[in-house]
Amino acid sequence: ALQAGIVGLPNVGKSTLFNAVSNSAKAQASNYRFCTIEPNVGLVDVPDPRLKKLEELVKPERVVPTTIEFVDIAGLVKGASKGEGLGNKFLANIREVDAIVHVIRCFEDENILREEGAINPVGDKEIIDTELQLKDLESVEKKIARTEKMAKTGGDPKAKAEYEVLKACKEHLEKGKNIRELGLSKEERVAIADLFLLTEKPVLYVANVDEASMLTGNKYSEALAASVKAENAQVIVMNNTIEAQISEMEDADDKALFLSEYKLEEPGLNRLIHSAYNLLQLITYFTAGVQEVRAWTIHRGWKAPQAASVIHTDFEKGFIKAEVIAYDDYVKYGSEASARDNGRLRIEGKEYIVSDGDVMHFRFNV
Ligand code: GDP
Repeated sequence: ALQAGIVGLPNVGKSTLFNAVSNSAKAQASNYRFCTIEPNVGLVDVPDPRLKKLEELVKPERVVPTTIEFVDIAGLVKGASKGEGLGNKFLANIREVDAIVHVIRCFEDENILREEGAINPVGDKEIIDTELQLKDLESVEKKIARTEKMAKTGGDPKAKAEYEVLKACKEHLEKGKNIRELGLSKEERVAIADLFLLTEKPVLYVANVDEASMLTGNKYSEALAASVKAENAQVIVMNNTIEAQISEMEDADDKALFLSEYKLEEPGLNRLIHSAYNLLQLITYFTAGVQEVRAWTIHRGWKAPQAASVIHTDFEKGFIKAEVIAYDDYVKYGSEASARDNGRLRIEGKEYIVSDGDVMHFRFNV
């Protein structure tokens, strides 16, 4: 499953956010530095109104949304890259994730400990960035040391090209910049793929603001947004405490009432999940049968056999063809049969690139 790692300085609201995203969250929000030492993992459904619509039309026995996994990566502090405060262990956890959710404290509360003094979102972001950059620098330098000789003496053009990429990365990191801003080509990224660089991972910033600024943002979230403009990153303004409260409400009517009292159109969590989806260039296709209506996550640009493989690996090997109805057509005609009668069911082959919202049915050999 797709994984997003929640990072940030202590007491910025990471665990609170994690509690909100995780149905089974056990992380305790408290005022201690290392209260969550093991990374906590939580699964969250990807909200998708199209599933509800398909459910109404198909009336299946069950509906299965697709999920994203969130990991609470606590314990990043200044000096983490040098092993401070179990830092190294936490940095290793970040290597595993597909995307980073960086929570930044944009709320004032004198009761909540803050070692760095006055609220300073841009400074906080830089502290974490620096730790990640130092760690990346270590990985890059290690690889340079390993490959330098071959690149310089051997006639292998590939080793030489790789070496050039590594050197560019090193220079960039030494300037205090993140690899994701370096504008590497696809081939160049392949050359460093084995390093799983932390600052290459896509990032979303959560500006954790107080309740009063939830809809508007505040001077802190604005400063943060301005500082990450060049990164082409997204900043999501939300209040993690309120989000945690919303996530605890089981009754849909209660939840709707609560949201409307706060003038929220939807939980901030939904915005976060959708942004993560966009950031990672993910799309959803559906399978719709009387037993099950289900959403599946794939990468944009995947062809039909690869898309089928997320259901079962055998589907890819034995792929013959796919029957496809665009979501809008499915809704317009109201059923598979009616869509077919109106010429809206397409037969697609191995080269078909799946579109967001496709309702698919795979034919395959076993
Ligand atoms: P973590 O160390 O980053 O995981 O931070 P926590 O989620 O444990 O939060 C630290 C403290 O800040 C807890 O007491 C939370 O209740 C509190 N907190 C979290 N978000 C907010 C917020 O938006 N406003 C205020 N005032 N307090 C918050």
